[in-house]
Amino acid sequence: MGRVEGSIKISPLLITLSHISDLRPRISSIRAEGKSVALVPTMGFLHEGHLSLIRKAKDECDIVIVSIFVNPTQFAPHEDLEKYPRDISGDSERASGAGCDMLFIPSITEMYPDGFSSTVSVNGLSSVLEGEFRPTHFQGVTTVVLKLINIVQPTVAYFGQKDAQQSVVIKKMVNDLNVPVTIVIVPTMREQDGLAMSSRNVYLDPVQRKDAVVLSRSLDLAKSRIVEGVRDPQKIIAEMKELILSTGPATIDYVEIVDADLLKKKDTLIRGESVLIPLAVRFGSTRLIDNIIVTV
Ligand code: AMP
Repeated sequence: MGRVEGSIKISPLLITLSHISDLRPRISSIRAEGKSVALVPTMGFLHEGHLSLIRKAKDECDIVIVSIFVNPTQFAPHEDLEKYPRDISGDSERASGAGCDMLFIPSITEMYPDGFSSTVSVNGLSSVLEGEFRPTHFQGVTTVVLKLINIVQPTVAYFGQKDAQQSVVIKKMVNDLNVPVTIVIVPTMREQDGLAMSSRNVYLDPVQRKDAVVLSRSLDLAKSRIVEGVRDPQKIIAEMKELILSTGPATIDYVEIVDADLLKKKDTLIRGESVLIPLAVRFGSTRLIDNIIVTV
């Protein structure tokens, strides 16, 4: 059921809904047929990273619902909400090609009607790493993700390892609040030169785009050091920072080595454990995040 919303062309192959009241009965009948439902929440401007989530969802579930919602509550006032890239017609084509059955594109007032006043917070995990630089971010994320899960009532919801802390926070929320959904985390898709795919990469000018490859190179360096037997996280972090700063103008928000589940900073690395190495670096006004998980 294709249609045109304003001047935006939506793929004729895709059912595209913007009202919760239209979505709910459709999902009820899908569930009543015994079919499994996947939810892939996104902010749109879909790239291969998003599409890998949709493809995996289609492999594992009968019906795939992709939400596109640039959620204002996860942006701080000085962040890039207004200029966040958007391309609904391209998204619709790409999502459909990757196996999406239904697009859910709610308006801000559909999600946050007048008088909306509830929030969901995962304490502790939300205030470290990204949370130190974006103190209100994860409350916005967990609130909108719980809303989307409640609206769609999926069997499985898919998230990317690219946003490692988001994945940890959402898994904790689902566990703490007994939300009846399975969370699946999908590996990070990268450009050929190693840069993690991100909707925000379009902000980079050509020089910054080249410089930004240093993020994945610094993660590779950290992995090599661990494989070589270095067990002091501070030594590895210092080498990573040196590499990043030696490449070009960049501002490091953080580079850390933390416990992969609790996000606690590691004093030393212990054989057999899995650690998360997350980083956030700004190139001009563009802030990029990346990470890897390494088993020591
Ligand atoms: P976003 O539109 O940035 O909110 O991302 C929507 C979902 O896609 C989130 O679960 C992200 O973690 C995931 N995602 C974004 N970039 C990538 C990537 N390069 N590889 C895999 N998943 C990604």
